[in-house]
Amino acid sequence: EPALTQFGTQMSRLSGVRAIMKDIIETLRAGGGQQFINLSAGNPVILPPVEQMWREYTADLLASPEYGEVVCRYGSSQGYQPLIDAVVNDFNQRYGLNLSDRHILITPGSQSVYFYAANAFGGYTTEGALKQVVLPLSPEYTGYGGVCLTPEALKAYKPTLDIEESNHRFKYRPDFSQLKITEDTGCLIFSRPCNPTGNVLTDEEVHKISGLASEYDVPVLIDSAYGPPFPALNFTQMTPQFGGNLLHCMSLSKAGLPGERIGVAIGDPGLIGVLEAFQTNMCIHSPRYGQAIAARAIQSGQLANLSETVIRPHYQSKFAQLEASLTEAMPNSLPWFLHKGEGAIFAWLWLRDLPITDWQLYQNLKKVGVIVVPGSTFFPGLQEEWAHKNQCIRISLTATEEEIATAMGRLAKVVEETYLQS
Ligand code: PLP
Repeated sequence: EPALTQFGTQMSRLSGVRAIMKDIIETLRAGGGQQFINLSAGNPVILPPVEQMWREYTADLLASPEYGEVVCRYGSSQGYQPLIDAVVNDFNQRYGLNLSDRHILITPGSQSVYFYAANAFGGYTTEGALKQVVLPLSPEYTGYGGVCLTPEALKAYKPTLDIEESNHRFKYRPDFSQLKITEDTGCLIFSRPCNPTGNVLTDEEVHKISGLASEYDVPVLIDSAYGPPFPALNFTQMTPQFGGNLLHCMSLSKAGLPGERIGVAIGDPGLIGVLEAFQTNMCIHSPRYGQAIAARAIQSGQLANLSETVIRPHYQSKFAQLEASLTEAMPNSLPWFLHKGEGAIFAWLWLRDLPITDWQLYQNLKKVGVIVVPGSTFFPGLQEEWAHKNQCIRISLTATEEEIATAMGRLAKVVEETYLQS
């Protein structure tokens, strides 16, 4: 075993959901003849029209004289110019902005931009002060737990809950009575729509957060991995926000290119410059083949179009199906609450006063052939004790309708027995 530094120890740890994934992969492998319905996947579904679009733009690139320039040469750290231009034109037109190419950074997947930001703005300053990476609304994407080289910098805030008691629905809200942004804040990050909950912060909540942050000149990263205009996995109306201290961070992963690793950050040139320098040191630049086909799909408008006509309806109908199956199967007398499905590719179920932990529930569900993700992994940076952290599960919408219906039936039975036995 090599001796590791603090950073080495931190980065060689399996964090959050990746630790669970290991258990899931081993469960699936061991199998023992049991068939599992796997509702843990974060991997998006391959949707044929979307795959076909990427195939066509790849063929177009192969046939073009541009091909050699794209794959046989290094490029600029900021990104491949035709992709930058396509994003600038699309966003200026779509949202009436005034972006120049200095507002854009292309990264190898969006995960990397959170890594750059969490360590460029969060962690210890040269004077030894600790700058926090603030997650204003917990639960959140587990990936933020892994990106801080200084884990003590990560600070998440407990939400408030809007509960519709008789309807079995709920929604998290940022708790503005608790949220503190001060000179100790390095940056803020939140996903909108949110993985794991499917929550969409309202435009007003976003304004309020960015207003608080701007008092201290703190960058706010809005993780739009599921947001419009692509993949447009919002099921409620939402307006992307730009300007000032906001960094709009997109990903092409849920628009069919997770393997190509393409993220796009849009924001103030000063902030973009810091992140770009970080990227140059780390990996020089993002791969260019994916950027070249993405440029075509954005420029033609086809990516935005398929997002609205294929990608969004696919997952929205899966959520509706899950909601219907769950409502039918779950006893009305039990305190189960499904988070409002406002976007993303997951459903989030809260079982109030659950007599066992989410981890035990996960194990019991495995016994009936259903795999979900225990919710306690989605509270990175939230140290305080809170029973709610062990009362939730994340259910992926990537399964088939039949699988979802069957799994919700089995889930309801297990949950009912669990409450009855206590
Ligand atoms: N942010 C959120 C909310 C996600 O769910 C994911 C992936 O699941 C990512 C970021 C990372 O995506 P990528 O690095 O593929 O762009």
